[in-house]
Amino acid sequence: MKTERRFQGVAVSPGIARGTAYIYRPDEELPPRHTVPDVESELRRLQMALGDTRRQILAMQERVADQLGAHDAAIFDAHLLVVEDGVLMDEVQKLLRAEKCNAEHAFFTVAQRYTKTLAEMDDVYLRERSVDIFDVARRVIHNLLGKDHAGLAGLTSSHVVLAHNLTPSDTAQMNRTHVLGFGTEVGGRTSHTAIMARSLNIPAIVGLHSALAEIEDGAPVLLDGYSGLLIVHPNEQTLFEYGEQQNRRRTVETELGQLRETASTMRDGRHVVLAANIEAPEDTEQVRASGAEGVGLFRTEFLYLNRDDMPGEDEQFAAYHKVAEALWPHPVIFRTLDLGGDKLHEQLHATPEVNPFLGWRAIRVCLERSDIFKPQLRAILRASVRGNVKLLIPMISGVGEIRQAKAIIEECRAELRAEGHQFDAEMEVGIMIEVPSAAIIADVLAKEVDFFSLGTNDLVQYTVATDRTNEHIAHLYEPTHPAVIRLIKQTVDAAHAAGIWVGVCGETGGDITLTPLLLGLGVDELSCGASVLPRVKRAVRSLDTGICQRLAAVALACDSGAAIQAACDAVAREHYGELL
Ligand code: PEP
Ligand code: MG
Repeated sequence: MKTERRFQGVAVSPGIARGTAYIYRPDEELPPRHTVPDVESELRRLQMALGDTRRQILAMQERVADQLGAHDAAIFDAHLLVVEDGVLMDEVQKLLRAEKCNAEHAFFTVAQRYTKTLAEMDDVYLRERSVDIFDVARRVIHNLLGKDHAGLAGLTSSHVVLAHNLTPSDTAQMNRTHVLGFGTEVGGRTSHTAIMARSLNIPAIVGLHSALAEIEDGAPVLLDGYSGLLIVHPNEQTLFEYGEQQNRRRTVETELGQLRETASTMRDGRHVVLAANIEAPEDTEQVRASGAEGVGLFRTEFLYLNRDDMPGEDEQFAAYHKVAEALWPHPVIFRTLDLGGDKLHEQLHATPEVNPFLGWRAIRVCLERSDIFKPQLRAILRASVRGNVKLLIPMISGVGEIRQAKAIIEECRAELRAEGHQFDAEMEVGIMIEVPSAAIIADVLAKEVDFFSLGTNDLVQYTVATDRTNEHIAHLYEPTHPAVIRLIKQTVDAAHAAGIWVGVCGETGGDITLTPLLLGLGVDELSCGASVLPRVKRAVRSLDTGICQRLAAVALACDSGAAIQAACDAVAREHYGELL
């Protein structure tokens, strides 16, 4: 039995995953070279992998022809030509015989040379062939290594996935039944990949730095999404201890499950709206099961990822209508498109930006591209017909943007009216407060809208100038930084003075150590992942307004994020320590 090894990362999605490691390398580097004792059997292995590759391409071609038509399926002809390319195969065989090396190494070396040469050609057709060769080469290598080419979407058995990085699109494609948990070397707690993991209920760790170099594919691992620990080759003692811990957690979970039908009311009778954050129309079942009073944030951009085109008005209407109906009479807050930052769309963000988080993102994209914005607004308006839909606009940094957005919404209303469509004329329109400039002029913005939703994930990153996805500076990413707490207070006070309500839909909304502070600052609604919502409800029910307001007063007088967090932890420990 191999010796147990432990790697410390940052816990981003709770739960324990135990299984074998699947090392996901989307951009395959040169497979390591080793000498083979029998060249002929290595050549046979290569022939078999080529045969498998050919069959897979044909099957894929057939599937695409059925779903999209013969024209689209024809792109795979080029892939078949690569597998059948005699010159390329001769070169691979020559190299393999000359060097007596493994087939993966020989094939990839030759394919890489071809790819590189073709990629530098002026001729567009030839340049495109370089992509085909690369794609086929990856498939051949995967077949030689016995891995499924389709990556995460194609995992056919349960694994703990480990990768250098996973994009939000990678995560969105994950097959929940086969991905037991995942760990990445890079990333931060509020990166969208981490948020997706929480909403998919998949235990996850980020910030494992360079752990992958020391973990072999197929190794038994235990991933602790509570503490951020990845344990490779766990020993008997570790497995026993984790078993005990799991039993204790199960008892707490059972108790939390019973809270589903109870109200989120504080001990002094103050009601706090608890809503869920979701990313897909299929997530409404989780929302119901969690006992949430609707959806506080529907991140619509996930409808736009993992596809080449843009979803049209009718497709979006069908999705939004389904969610609004499923949760009626509870409210559903649809946030308009927030692409950009770490959620990049292949077409929209084809040219990389130097600072994507400070770049062409969210409302900035929408105001320039009414061909994208208007179909979405019209779809949301049409879905509002039964009165339980609200609209939320992200990344507002000044009053001009919200006025422009409102004018476009007005235009959509007029068009829909003229076309005879029904919609809720009173539908509330709110904005995310997630850019410091918006928090600072919250009094001005409050006059323009019906509600505010504090996006603390971005508010923290922009206030303390700390990229939310960068594990190297994760220690500076402090949701309790005094500057952030003051901005939240200022926003809540401005909202209430203008008679509008304010919620929190960033990840602090689901952090039960911060629940008393947010309530003490006067926040009216908390929206969080459905999986953590029962804990938040339990925290709310254990607190009263007096305790929370005293904590807020203490926090506002603290000089550091650590001191504020410590004050919050003390209150949480005293009132619901068993949840922590
Ligand atoms: C936020 O910034 O807090 C937020 C909720 O939006 P997102 O995480 O999608 O940027
Ligand atoms: Mg945000």
